[in-house]
Amino acid sequence: MMNYYYNSLNSMDKSFRSKMKRKIDTVGVLKIVALILSAAILLVLGFVIGYFTKTAVTHHTSSESVGISEVDVADYLMKEISSENIDKHLKKLTSRPHLSGTPGIHDTVEYIHNFWKQIHLDKTKLISYEVLLSHPSPDNPNSVSVLGQDDSPLFQSQPAEPILRPEDNSSEIVPPFNAYSAAGSVMGTPIYVNYGRVSDFEYVKNLNMTFKDQICVVRYGFNFRADKVALGEKYGCVGMIIYSDPADYAITNTSKVYPDSWLIPGGGVQRGTIKKSSTASGDPLTPLYPATEHAYRLNISEADLPKIPCQPIGYDDARKLLRYFDGEEVPDEWKGGLNITYRFGSKLISGAKAVKVVVNNEFKLDTINNIVGFIEGSVEPDRYVIIGNHYDAWVYGGADPNSGTAVMLEVSRAFMALTKEKGWRPRRSLMFCAWGAEEQGIIGSREFVEEYGLILGQRAVAYLNVDIAVQGRFVFRGKALPMLNTVLFEATKLVPNPDEEEVEHGRKSVYDTWCFRKPEKSSSSSPTSLSSSPSSPNHAVIIDRDDKSHSNYVTIYKDDDDIDDGVVKPIRPRMGLIGSGSDFAPFVISVGTTCADVRFIYDEKLNISSYPLYHTGYETYYLFSKHHDPGFIYSKALGRVWSQMALMLADRVQIPLDPVEYSDFVKSYFQKFKSSNERYLLGFNITLTALSSAVKNFTRAVKDFKARLDKIDLNNVHLVRQYNDQLMNLERSFIDHAGLPDRPAVKHVIFAPSRYNSYAASVFPGVTDAIFDLKQHLHDGEAPKYVEQVKKQLSVLIFMFQRAGANLKESDDFIGRD
Ligand SMILES: [Zn+2]
Repeated sequence: MMNYYYNSLNSMDKSFRSKMKRKIDTVGVLKIVALILSAAILLVLGFVIGYFTKTAVTHHTSSESVGISEVDVADYLMKEISSENIDKHLKKLTSRPHLSGTPGIHDTVEYIHNFWKQIHLDKTKLISYEVLLSHPSPDNPNSVSVLGQDDSPLFQSQPAEPILRPEDNSSEIVPPFNAYSAAGSVMGTPIYVNYGRVSDFEYVKNLNMTFKDQICVVRYGFNFRADKVALGEKYGCVGMIIYSDPADYAITNTSKVYPDSWLIPGGGVQRGTIKKSSTASGDPLTPLYPATEHAYRLNISEADLPKIPCQPIGYDDARKLLRYFDGEEVPDEWKGGLNITYRFGSKLISGAKAVKVVVNNEFKLDTINNIVGFIEGSVEPDRYVIIGNHYDAWVYGGADPNSGTAVMLEVSRAFMALTKEKGWRPRRSLMFCAWGAEEQGIIGSREFVEEYGLILGQRAVAYLNVDIAVQGRFVFRGKALPMLNTVLFEATKLVPNPDEEEVEHGRKSVYDTWCFRKPEKSSSSSPTSLSSSPSSPNHAVIIDRDDKSHSNYVTIYKDDDDIDDGVVKPIRPRMGLIGSGSDFAPFVISVGTTCADVRFIYDEKLNISSYPLYHTGYETYYLFSKHHDPGFIYSKALGRVWSQMALMLADRVQIPLDPVEYSDFVKSYFQKFKSSNERYLLGFNITLTALSSAVKNFTRAVKDFKARLDKIDLNNVHLVRQYNDQLMNLERSFIDHAGLPDRPAVKHVIFAPSRYNSYAASVFPGVTDAIFDLKQHLHDGEAPKYVEQVKKQLSVLIFMFQRAGANLKESDDFIGRD
């Protein structure tokens, strides 16, 4: 293990540290003693002065006000976070299955609540909601079967996942199901629709096969399962079966599976909700409002829930099921890793009559809890840096979510240790949140945002989410809204690389490997264009030939504008866009809180759709500690990144949100948007000229703001707060209270979950969706309606850019149009 001081020395206040180092070398030990003495005197003086002139010190970070520099606080946190503690939390949190609405969940709530009380967070609260949950019936199991001519079953799916380690056994394991599936028994001929994406359904439709009264069979992967079901419904299927194909989850190696590896065995089944998350409904019965005791509730029949029965199965069952399919063979890209001939179905082989899906899921209104704890800020207690994750799990939740929650508990303890031992407090408040019922469809955090959205809108600085901490050990992955990019880069530069092999190759920080293995794509220099011109002086391509396992990875250096002082700068790491898929979503799309979501991931070249045991009963402590993160080394690194980000955001005088990242992103995305849509839209007499100048004006407003921001007097507390508010409000400027068409809860006009794959993000969603609809309805007489929709959404977007620019102007200069 390398020493983390390397990074402190290199990245944190470099000049100060090196000056100190030189001094120490020359003046000798006596002077150090003198320095320590005078520092001690200064410290005491600082306390005295601080006591009598509280406002005079408020312009410093609170760390300085108690005589600890940011560097020292950062170092302390770095040292404090312990793998052993994370390990202990994970063991405890995974000791019993704990899906929302099952008995085990109470243990989990109690454990987190008690832990935060035990470490004396300033305030710890339970916030409960009454929400509609969905569970399989305890008495009538769900099933998928193939019926023979005499209606007797030729094949029937397994009711439960086989127990592969005796320790994994528990009567509380909820059998595989899709939450919120309609209950019912449906029969029909099956039809294979690949991943169940729009393109897959369209492909089958164009082959003149009908979905009407058929049972669609799709595989997990690529899009969010709720979107598969919604599409199945839209295209006319009466039922759906979703399975995990070995090609997507077991990397074709089905011989060495759990518990001997992290790969999914044939009996493993991915559970998961099929309640849509692109609409961000939260509790299905109280859309847009908190599900409190007195809330008005819809009837279940009025709720926006799936109308068809849907059941997940594993690949052992899928193999048996698909063998009964007759009809044409599917194209090569549609074939998975099962040793069978993949056919479209639409008829069955002789002897088989129909496929039957039986779902007996039950609804119940139940209490869920969010647990929220505070470390109160010393200077600006009404500004919150939020750190959060959900705590509910499909079964044991070894990776999802408890690997993240275990780290969060350790991060909260490390911050509290600082307050106890050093008398330190962050300048702004830290708010730790453990959300309930995320797995059933991001419910706990959504209800919280519905209840406290106004206050969060005014006071939340940022929300930092970690769900699965380590799903692989290949590289760090950061997803964030653009203003958090800089903080994320800075934090990962500070944290020592947990990958020893990488350290040997000279990549000492988490950032280094992130940058090396997942570099930003650049329009001016893609890896292919680079490798073809390696001799060009501004195109340095370094192929690390020693690194046998990843020999295809290249470090790419950009050209032109990235040359500064004669030094060629390496490209930075690639950031992901925020879609839905965890508790950050309601904060982004309804409040406009800037958010980040971080984790370690496997090599994306494995081409798997998630870590293989995702949402199965095999996601145990054993899986995580044996295969995902032995020794909890990556978990610790993640805790370090998380806490460093939180520290910077909570403690720096100027909130380190970077508005230039926002305008850079918008500028480059607009170019992409323009090149793919401009000509098409011109065909309808729609131009992008006004949007183009709105983007330019916004960019200029950001530039002017940044120039003023860099020069403000940090001793002027009111001015600092004013600029910080403008920074926080930048994200909120893009919140349209009218919401997107047909999605009233989704209000962000720059980023929203994609309508057809909520895992992914859609940029300029209002306009993008309208263009998509226009293309879909081009020939059915409805096109004029969608042309108007495109125009309307464009005008909304233009207005939002103007509003965001106005927010950044000086206080007497916001009125008027450029
Ligand atoms: Zn999760």
